[in-house]
Amino acid sequence: MNIVIIGCSAAGLSCLDTLCKISPQAHVTVISAERYSPYSRCLLTYYLGNMMTEQELTISTPSSYPASVRFILGQKAEKVDTRGKSVRLSNGMECEYDKLLIAVGADAVKPKYCDEEKRTFTLRYMDDAKKIAAKLKGKAVVSGGGFVGIKTAYGLLERKIKTEMVITSSYPLSMVLDESSASYIEKDLAQMGIGIITNDDIAEINLHQNDLKVCLSSGRVLESDFVVAGKGVKPQVDLARAAGIKVNEGISVDEYMETSVPDIFAAGDCCETVDLARNKVSLIGLWPVAVEQGYFAALNMSGNRSRYPGSIGMNSLKTKAFHLISAGILKGEPGLKVYEKQMFATKQFRRIAFRDDVPVGMAFYNCPEEAGLFVNLIKKAQPLLVRPQKVVNGDVSISDILKPL
Ligand SMILES: Cc1cc2nc3c(=O)[nH]c(=O)nc-3n(C[C@H](O)[C@H](O)[C@H](O)COP(=O)(O)OP(=O)(O)OC[C@H]3O[C@@H](n4cnc5c(N)ncnc54)[C@H](O)[C@@H]3O)c2cc1C
Repeated sequence: MNIVIIGCSAAGLSCLDTLCKISPQAHVTVISAERYSPYSRCLLTYYLGNMMTEQELTISTPSSYPASVRFILGQKAEKVDTRGKSVRLSNGMECEYDKLLIAVGADAVKPKYCDEEKRTFTLRYMDDAKKIAAKLKGKAVVSGGGFVGIKTAYGLLERKIKTEMVITSSYPLSMVLDESSASYIEKDLAQMGIGIITNDDIAEINLHQNDLKVCLSSGRVLESDFVVAGKGVKPQVDLARAAGIKVNEGISVDEYMETSVPDIFAAGDCCETVDLARNKVSLIGLWPVAVEQGYFAALNMSGNRSRYPGSIGMNSLKTKAFHLISAGILKGEPGLKVYEKQMFATKQFRRIAFRDDVPVGMAFYNCPEEAGLFVNLIKKAQPLLVRPQKVVNGDVSISDILKPL
């Protein structure tokens, strides 16, 4: 059987590794637009911050796979011919398949002011990180107050770059936290030396005789040496759409990770699947979720029919000053009840969201213990048999809740 995998990151690689174990007789071709061996995208900000080397980011190399696996790096899949069952690459090569996985991920949203000529970048790929690293000096502006924006600012801080974050909302991580819990992060970022400008956005960027001026919507002008925009991601759906595969916000797949075209599967940031916390089909866009989906795609592509149950979003943000772990949903959905315990003296908080007594979201700040156990409760949609406030207060240990009664 010929299997072609387009994209070799979390989802594509997980599919490949699973196939190597369960279907070693298959011939697998992996196509990647990037010229690098598979690497951890999540760690790019650590590479930028000189906390990790390129080698440390590398997950595996083509030479570590058997001869039945062929890597084609640095080539883009340009067209999928669903009738002839082949993929055409940017170098004109055709790869025939019996089963195909589309794992092309997402790309960074590029605001209209993004222009590399004006030293304004996004950070999604290793090449982006290298371009930014080549410009590292003096002062930087990071736009966007989400996880990637904060991780980028932290990486730059580690390189002694004086960084200011410009965020549209009135506090960072506004998709996850409320104002009072976000104030913990704001204070910690400020103490580390990262400036935060809220309720503002970049309107335009002007380069005049090597001086970069970042003009904000408020009229304020920041002098900077370079800019990184972290304004979210959009799934890469053009290849699938052009092939006649059903696409909503992301590529549409069934519970076996198969698209609307038989024998073509999709996994990772490019597709939409069931978000267990929201109880609906959504884009999740996270590494461990892409890994799970790639695994289920491999099972089903090799004839081991297995239903992917869906997943929940989870994220972790660790700096020298704080460690935030979040999962599921904490706001933006009807019927949520949020319980919180803030511990000012120890700079900790626990926030837990419930819908009808079922835990659906959590954010633990500087208290990583038991966070993993709570993620499991959310995944299982297991109702709590104790009062939620007792859990956030720490009066009841989560491991006790998990014990059979
Ligand atoms: C800076 C940063 C920090 C992050 N931190 C976290 C974190 O802490 N936790 C977390 O869970 N997630 C994090 N993420 C998100 C995580 O990296 C993604 O969810 C994950 O990489 C998705 O994997 P994927 O396999 O779906 O696609 P991607 O990683 O997007 O990879 C897709 C691959 O397909 C290739 N490709 C695209 N089109 C084609 C084509 N036509 N032909 C051939 N190849 C193609 C791309 O070049 C790319 O190599 C972070 C992302 C970034 C950028």
